Amino acid sequence: MRVADAVAAAKLWLISEGAADLPYLSEGLYALVTVESDAVDTVAADESWRLYVNPAWAGVARVDELGREIAHQLWHLLLDHAGRARAAGVDRATAATWRTASDLGVCDALTDEGVVPERLREHARAVRKARPDLAEGRSTEEYWEQTRTLDSAPLDRGEGDRRARDDTAGAEDADEGSASDGLPRSWELPPEAAGGVEPAQGDDVRRSVALAYRAAVAVRPGHTPGLLDRWAEQVAEPRIPWEYLLAQAARRGVGWTSGRTHTTYARPNRRAASTPGILLPGWRRQNPTVACIVDTSGSVDEEMLGRALGEVEGAVVALGVGGSDLTVLTCDAAVHTVARLRRARDADLVGGGGTDLRVALAALETLRPRPTLAVVFTDGYTPWPDAPPPGCAVIVALLLHAEQAAPDVPGWATVIECRADP
Ligand SMILES: [Zn+2]
Repeated sequence: MRVADAVAAAKLWLISEGAADLPYLSEGLYALVTVESDAVDTVAADESWRLYVNPAWAGVARVDELGREIAHQLWHLLLDHAGRARAAGVDRATAATWRTASDLGVCDALTDEGVVPERLREHARAVRKARPDLAEGRSTEEYWEQTRTLDSAPLDRGEGDRRARDDTAGAEDADEGSASDGLPRSWELPPEAAGGVEPAQGDDVRRSVALAYRAAVAVRPGHTPGLLDRWAEQVAEPRIPWEYLLAQAARRGVGWTSGRTHTTYARPNRRAASTPGILLPGWRRQNPTVACIVDTSGSVDEEMLGRALGEVEGAVVALGVGGSDLTVLTCDAAVHTVARLRRARDADLVGGGGTDLRVALAALETLRPRPTLAVVFTDGYTPWPDAPPPGCAVIVALLLHAEQAAPDVPGWATVIECRADP
């Protein structure tokens, strides 16, 4: 059988009902590009999602054997063992131990899926025999940390499996490529060669598989969440710290308001000198002015308020917004968390019935200069106006408890959910 046909049959085996029945792997399998190679013993993958297949081996392997080896390599890619190896500082000297750890990680995933290749199972068994204290279901980084302290040299797959090929032999297995440890092999195609998957595309594939997994498996009645669910959750919903998002929103808000929005002929364009007689438009930079509206009533958490204010202050000051361009409006003059911000103006905005941020947002129009960006710090329990103040971008920093549902905020505002640590 041609290698391409054998690989296609093995991929089909992996996703088919009545066979391995793992349809959520489809996009991952589809991304893999087959390359025939005598340099590998069986199947190996590089970081660009190329699958190197030994044609002689593939010609005699059973469809499920080939399928299991493909799943093994696919999970190295889905788990991003190459990127994580780099982050962990893996080099040629430590790569073999990392590969052992990453294989334990893959083995855990394949065990949940029921498609562990026999060789990988034996390898994992041997490692666990040497280290009976090794916990189950750990991250590759944790496994690495634990297996690094093995007394003996890193466990390999046994004499028969390891072939000396070139001067890098010893640091390489003949059936693992850079997908497992991020170190390029001599037999791999260069990343830029045709047919490879770029890193950003790889992230998309991971996310697609994670979403497909959650849609198909995680909702099955009686399903017990395990390792794959944790992986899928992490990949599908990466947790980005709110501090970062809030600072980024503030920077964008200032950038957006600070101009290049008003074309004017007031200032000569620098290119004008070389084009005499032609009047080119210049850009007049409008000074950004930022107003912070602080809701200090009700359940607003003082510590969260302080952290959120600090992020915004840091972001806008770094962009050159000075004290005179920064106004703080508070609902309660007694609030002391804003004292370190320059308080150009205070206003009592507490209505009789509690917080009403409509009053605060309306008050922005009376300020001179008029703010071009308003950042509202609130728990969200307030009425909102139907429209933002004219000419003013609005960011709402919603200060929430760890598990609290977020109250509704109008669509004209950029909302950042700032959650307290659980
Ligand atoms: Zn492996």
